[in-house]
Amino acid sequence: MDPAQLHQEMLVWDAHRDVAYEAPLSERFLQGWMTGFDMHLPLVRAGGLDCQTYAICVAPELDLPPTAQAFKELELIWETQSSHSNTVTLALKSDDVLQAKAQGTLAAWVALEGAEPILNQIGLLRGFYRMGVRSIGLTWNWRNAIADGVAEGREQGGGLTRFGEQVVREMNQLGMVVDVAHMTLQGVRDVLRVSEQPIIVSHGGSQRLCATHRRTSPDEILEAIAEKDGVFCATTIPETLAQDPAQATLETFLDLIDHCVRVIGADHVGLGADFDVFQSHLGLPPEHWVKGLEEVDRWPRVTAGLVQRGYTESDIRKIMGENLLRVYRQVVG
Ligand SMILES: [Zn+2]
Repeated sequence: MDPAQLHQEMLVWDAHRDVAYEAPLSERFLQGWMTGFDMHLPLVRAGGLDCQTYAICVAPELDLPPTAQAFKELELIWETQSSHSNTVTLALKSDDVLQAKAQGTLAAWVALEGAEPILNQIGLLRGFYRMGVRSIGLTWNWRNAIADGVAEGREQGGGLTRFGEQVVREMNQLGMVVDVAHMTLQGVRDVLRVSEQPIIVSHGGSQRLCATHRRTSPDEILEAIAEKDGVFCATTIPETLAQDPAQATLETFLDLIDHCVRVIGADHVGLGADFDVFQSHLGLPPEHWVKGLEEVDRWPRVTAGLVQRGYTESDIRKIMGENLLRVYRQVVG
């Protein structure tokens, strides 16, 4: 099997990349985003990336209320879609992903990272669905109306509120993927109890590789996600891959995939890098990078690494994108 050819042919899907954390700050920043996006696209092409989930994450320290911040970021995405219609397809249904691949455009899903923008209003949840949001990370690091985030204490933090349970049920009804990446252990257990649909961790690490980082999960969580037929997406955040982030490499990332596959099988593992949206041209210091896997243009190296480690072609296809497609097909349609 030729890794380069396989990479080109198969669906490659990255389940997490932030849109623009500070986007609502100024109109000037919006211009910066467009410039950044234009620099991002050639890397996407070089990386053979077919599908990217872009997450809207609001900044609590800004004066603008979270719902307004999210609307501004959403507008940015729709604007990007209309000014880049030859290169980007906003994905609203699973078939859009396959169609985009056939046309050679990038399929872009929109997600919320942290449900702060919906406040405590189910009506706002429906509104975000209508505006194209198809998955929500219920919390970021802090407490919101739905549940606690991991920074409130991975083991001590609380689970779903009654409103949070309502949100999960409504997301099942609407066809939105529930993402538990930043939740506490209790939060994940509650979501698994309430949700009738598969759920995902859009970007996560394993405690086996780095026990001290709050964004790494015990095997118990991986197993529970797999039991619901969901997907655990391996992240490239260096601090979650190694005690000393400077030691995080492409091989460490492959070790994380190995571990996940060993515990829950190749049907339940995916990719969720969390590359910084501006790292490619802001020149962030090296500790922000995983050596050998610094940006989206490095994805072919992951395919080559999996081939080298003895994965079958069918398992590589699942890990690199087909598992996420399966879940989105079931949940979103
Ligand atoms: Zn995150």
